[in-house]
Amino acid sequence: MRIFSGIQPTGRKHLGNYIGAIAQYVDGQERGEGIYCIVDLHAISVAYDQRALPTTVYDTAAILLAAGLDPERCIFFRQSDVQEHTELTWLLSAVTAYGDLTRMHQFKDKSAAQRELVSAALLYYPVLMAADVLVYRANEVPVGDDQRQHVELMRDIAERFNARFGERLVVPEGRYPQVGARIMDLQDPERKMSTTGGTPQGTVLVLDEPKTILKKFRSAVTDSGSEVVRAVDKPGISNLIDIMAAVSGRAPESVEGEFDGSGYGAFKTAVAEAVIDYLGPVRERYDEIRADEPELQRIFAAGAEKARAIASETLRDVREAMGFGAVRAGQ
Ligand code: ATP
Ligand code: MG
Repeated sequence: MRIFSGIQPTGRKHLGNYIGAIAQYVDGQERGEGIYCIVDLHAISVAYDQRALPTTVYDTAAILLAAGLDPERCIFFRQSDVQEHTELTWLLSAVTAYGDLTRMHQFKDKSAAQRELVSAALLYYPVLMAADVLVYRANEVPVGDDQRQHVELMRDIAERFNARFGERLVVPEGRYPQVGARIMDLQDPERKMSTTGGTPQGTVLVLDEPKTILKKFRSAVTDSGSEVVRAVDKPGISNLIDIMAAVSGRAPESVEGEFDGSGYGAFKTAVAEAVIDYLGPVRERYDEIRADEPELQRIFAAGAEKARAIASETLRDVREAMGFGAVRAGQ
């Protein structure tokens, strides 16, 4: 059982990333062979600062390590260190439908939000993401709900490849958390909490101070009612119930039962306190891990070496199946 997932280094990571993805990565270490990477190559699909990128890659890596990723028990690396990802991207483009790429919600949303250039990289992002997973022949991809369409596309790509060139790739399954697969922005609960979009006040960062977290939850947008129940016309309170359920490991119904009749104010404070407890240990470990850059470099180098060993084997098979020399000239 092989598990693969990647996370972007853009900006600082938020509670949605933590519940939707990072917590599942940590859990995956117990269930199978976890392969996780910081997908820095994906960061270039929107406007970004190349001088800040190396730093934000380390920031993100330190968050994952502080959350409990253990480089001894999983393969943890930086995407741009393993060139097989980019080579496989090009090869997979032969079996990727252009029309599918233009239909991706993320492409539509993010291209609409770009003020200057809408790069071809933004359109191409799902092909790189497919290559990230398929190059490891992973069985499972833990991601948030927003990635469903990309996971379906990567499954189509793998199936089309296998049908056209012979069974070489594993068709992976997405794995979405039962509760908290789509955490919404606290100020704009119709929109997902996001690293690059979203409102600053409505985005709870993993490394936010307790008092900041409390303030963000206390000012969360809710409807005019007072009942703590999930409903389509109550996106704000529904989101808070999901967050409470996810961070306390309970069913949303049990949260509704406990806070029945307690009012929004008290509920918001209780959610904030539960989130502060949930993220506290990560924040406590973060500084020490982030401060030791030579150690982070060492972890990346060792991880990339292990990743390359798997990825290069897949590439050899794929190249051969597609009619390219099995061994490259000069190797
Ligand atoms: P952006 O909005 O710029 O794409 P992001 O917040 O989605 O950034 P990513 O690095 O793209 O960050 O996502 C990392 C993981 O977090 C992915 O598996 C994604 O599905 C998950 N994720 C992102 N936002 C949420 C959210 N609001 N709720 C649950 N999971 C999320
Ligand atoms: Mg994203």
